[in-house]
Amino acid sequence: MYNDYAALKKELYAGNVTCTEVVRYYLDNINKGKHLNAFLLVLETEALRQASEIDLKIRSGNAGKLAGMVIAVKDVLSLKGYKLTCGSKILQNFEALYTASAIQRLIDEDAVIIGKTNCDEFAMGSSNENSAYGNVLNPADNSCVPGGSSGGSAAAVAADMCMVSIGTDTGGSIRQPASFCGVVGLKPTYGRISRYGLTAFASSFDTIGPFARNVSDAALALEVMSGLDKNDSTSANKNKEDYISKIHEFSAGKIKVGIIADLDESGLQHEIKESMNKAVEQIKSSGAEIIPIELPNLKYSIQAYYILTTAEASSNLARYDGARYGTRSKDAKVLEDMYVNSRSEGFGMEVKRRIMLGTYVLSHGYYDAYYKKAQRLRRLIKNDFKKVYDKVDLILLPTTPTTAFKIGEKSNNPLAMYLNDIYTTAANLSGNPALSIPLGKDNNNLPIGLQIIGDDFNEAKVLGLGEFILKNTA
Ligand code: GLN
Repeated sequence: MYNDYAALKKELYAGNVTCTEVVRYYLDNINKGKHLNAFLLVLETEALRQASEIDLKIRSGNAGKLAGMVIAVKDVLSLKGYKLTCGSKILQNFEALYTASAIQRLIDEDAVIIGKTNCDEFAMGSSNENSAYGNVLNPADNSCVPGGSSGGSAAAVAADMCMVSIGTDTGGSIRQPASFCGVVGLKPTYGRISRYGLTAFASSFDTIGPFARNVSDAALALEVMSGLDKNDSTSANKNKEDYISKIHEFSAGKIKVGIIADLDESGLQHEIKESMNKAVEQIKSSGAEIIPIELPNLKYSIQAYYILTTAEASSNLARYDGARYGTRSKDAKVLEDMYVNSRSEGFGMEVKRRIMLGTYVLSHGYYDAYYKKAQRLRRLIKNDFKKVYDKVDLILLPTTPTTAFKIGEKSNNPLAMYLNDIYTTAANLSGNPALSIPLGKDNNNLPIGLQIIGDDFNEAKVLGLGEFILKNTA
């Protein structure tokens, strides 16, 4: 196992291992873990071709910053010339026409893209059970879900099928599966990484971020993917930051950490709470100041999130009409039937539910009652966070109320499924960066996740505390 990129890089440059060998190692693990269904596409030939090129570059001393880092990419991100299914039947034969900016930046630094990972259809879900290509199994316990929607990406890192993977997070889809699978997952600040080439779910919430076995590898991938992109007007004009150095400079003694005093803990598993308390004690004894904070509108996050994101989704998914993208129904004789049949046959249950909910909340007569109110709530939640950052640097809370649940346990109960996002959606409503780190196991030996949220563009501090807790709390 290659534990972290810094160590691998040394070996690669010392000539003790080649990039080709590293790629073969991961291909072998992908093959051994086929039953997990984490990959929708494995780029064996292309990855080996890239690897041999990178080996030459390493020898001639002109390899990029991520030379030999093997990365898997969630199948909602475009990679030119390869299928982009978004976990949906409607796009089963769709081929990407260009490469997503974030992925191109990784490739430009000589990372090797090893494949596309399974996910919930159009990134809608918390269990990966909404994929048209079958569910993904949690490597920690195959009878459990890996979380979602980036379940394949989380499972791929957990099962050592790649060093880093890329996912997307609209309401928790990086942090929740990271927590369920026992890996690190980072949702950066909205705008930190260009969304160009990411298939839109809810455009004002969608973010791209890394999964890794440790904080430094996630930080490195973030650094490379970040920065302004002329193809995405919502990408932020911020300089790249050297997160690794900042993580090293981080000192727990200088920070103020907020604990949410009015957090809804009704469904919170007690081992998760204990694990978080342990981390709090640890950072406190290292000199951090722990401050109780209040986020009075946090309790409305789920409601606001599911109104706003379904509204955006209903509009974003209107493009899949059988005319331009993907599958067209064969039975239709008139135009309207073509639209209706293509969408009815192409979309799965959950996507249909969201399109209907979204269309409803945007419709005349209900717009003011739902959509507008939810927009106001989003502002209030953002303001709550802003106020809190006058007092603290970072906020600690659980990533999920429970550890990974059983496959099938919540699939017939959308509300129970949505409630799994109770602690993650707030950072998407506010746009703040948020990290999930693995922090011990529960009594069933399932991984527990702890979440760290920071103010906009404060990834360095978020990562710093994450690394500190991982290193110091057993
Ligand atoms: N589980 C959430 C949802 O179903 C989050 C999805 C996401 O972040 N892409 O909407």
